Amino acid sequence: MSDIIQLLPDHVANQIAAGEVVQRPASVVKELLENAIDASATNITLLLKDAGKTLVQVIDNGKGMSTTDARLCFERHATSKIKNAEDLFNLHTKGFRGEALASIAAIAHVELKTKQDDEELGTCIKIEGSSIVSQEVTSTPKGTSIAVKNLFYNIPARRNFLKSDTVETRHIIDEFQRVALAHPDISFALYHNDNEVYNLKNSNLRKRIVSIFGNKTNEKLVPTEEETDIISIKGFVAKPEFAKKKRGEQFFFVNDRFIKSSYLNHAVNSAFEGLLDQGAHPTYFIYFEVPPNTIDINIHPTKTEVKFDNEKALYAIIRATVKHSLGQYNVAPVLDFNR
Ligand code: ADP
Ligand code: MG
Repeated sequence: MSDIIQLLPDHVANQIAAGEVVQRPASVVKELLENAIDASATNITLLLKDAGKTLVQVIDNGKGMSTTDARLCFERHATSKIKNAEDLFNLHTKGFRGEALASIAAIAHVELKTKQDDEELGTCIKIEGSSIVSQEVTSTPKGTSIAVKNLFYNIPARRNFLKSDTVETRHIIDEFQRVALAHPDISFALYHNDNEVYNLKNSNLRKRIVSIFGNKTNEKLVPTEEETDIISIKGFVAKPEFAKKKRGEQFFFVNDRFIKSSYLNHAVNSAFEGLLDQGAHPTYFIYFEVPPNTIDINIHPTKTEVKFDNEKALYAIIRATVKHSLGQYNVAPVLDFNR
């Protein structure tokens, strides 16, 4: 008899987990932006070099980390966001799996600078391939900056698999827009190779949509709203004449999180029935809240697919709500900037 099973070393386990969490620079963008939001930042800046292949850096003015936490945050399953299994059914943060930073640090060169409000000096940590290579006391503003350099430097196959800068930038902008749309109350800026791409001041939902998609969007937006026991909905649909031939801007946010749902997309499409040309897709920005214990976010590492307890009822309510607002749109004062 011979025993052949062994436990994998941490850095190997992290690299395997990274395969799921980090597909491309845009995945890093999403994880870092979400961490900044969970840290209650009100101002978030994203810096990119070469479509994120050389650098993805997120700077926030959130609550920062202690020196001990700054080391611990790169460990797998290290999180400040949940404590036990019950918490999974009552999530109020974007993160909870405690694996993003561990995964990212396994496959990139990472530099973290962080300082809490009540500290005079902060911490700077450099980590490569899951190993801390330096730790220093540093003078840095309140909040956190995480720079992720040379993604997949140690996995050439993954690096070669990355698409052109244009395609990778598109993926990043998609993630950036989703997060910025989910949080109009937070200011976001995006710079690519030192050029300003977005500078979004904190505002309301309509203004945030307009600042991302252009002034012409404003007149297209029809408010849609409903409040029931199991769901509260707010947001906008675009008037039918502004529907897109290609699948265009279609956004669902549940409890401030962008999600993909072909089922609920169908609910909106069917509310537009008879109003759209053949093959046209409605534009919509629909935000809804459901009780956290009626939704399972933990079915995929990227959390864009979720499971609802009351899927059928949600479908019916969303469909009816959109239909109702479309019925009203030509009489509603749609230019009111404060709705
Ligand atoms: P998760 O977000 O699931 O907890 P992460 O690996 O993304 O896991 O982050 C690990 C921990 O590091 C977080 O729980 C949080 O305590 C801390 N952290 C990460 N990013 C920031 C940030 N920008 N500001 C403050 N704390 C952070
Ligand atoms: Mg996280």
